[in-house]
Amino acid sequence: MRSNLKIRINSILQKTNVEGPGTRFCIWVQGCSIHCVGCANSALWDKNGGKEYSVSEIVGMINCNRQEIEGVTFLGGEPLEQIKPVTEIAKHVQQMGLSVLVFTGYEYNQLKSNSDFCELEKFVDILIDGKYEKDKRDFSRPWVGSSNQNYYFLSDRYDESILSKYRSKFEIRLNNGEVALNGMGDFEKLKKVLKL
Ligand code: SF4
Repeated sequence: MRSNLKIRINSILQKTNVEGPGTRFCIWVQGCSIHCVGCANSALWDKNGGKEYSVSEIVGMINCNRQEIEGVTFLGGEPLEQIKPVTEIAKHVQQMGLSVLVFTGYEYNQLKSNSDFCELEKFVDILIDGKYEKDKRDFSRPWVGSSNQNYYFLSDRYDESILSKYRSKFEIRLNNGEVALNGMGDFEKLKKVLKL
């Protein structure tokens, strides 16, 4: 495929089991203007940080993994602040027969009147909305960190029953001697245990 659209990304995990249903290709989109108090990803706030990729490059990477993944998860940062390239990638992911999960700090009810969002939501199976609210910290539900966040099932692919099959979990990786963590849970406690 050819697309001139570009997207700034902080990091990519080609296979992870803790960022949505099944094994997923996960994209941490760079840039977020919401600035939740207690955000664990403040390094992703700067919209000029990370690295620029073409949409074609990202779709190519996903395509190489398509046999081994259930879908793609967009998180950040704030995926909706780069909504056009995210939509283009999501469209190709659906064409591959894979699922799409998008996290956003914005609220679904406010997004529904936005025409760009209406285009994106055609290609999204699960949307998880809402800011991280420190005072509502809660890891009892899968993949989310605070109790105000909501799951929206926007296609027939999944429904609420999927939530009882998963729990919030971490993955710990060693990358060239550096420890990398992803998933959801009490990162501060984990870092103390691991002496990071
Ligand atoms: S929306 Fe997400 S990335 Fe943005 S500040 Fe809130 S928790 Fe952090």
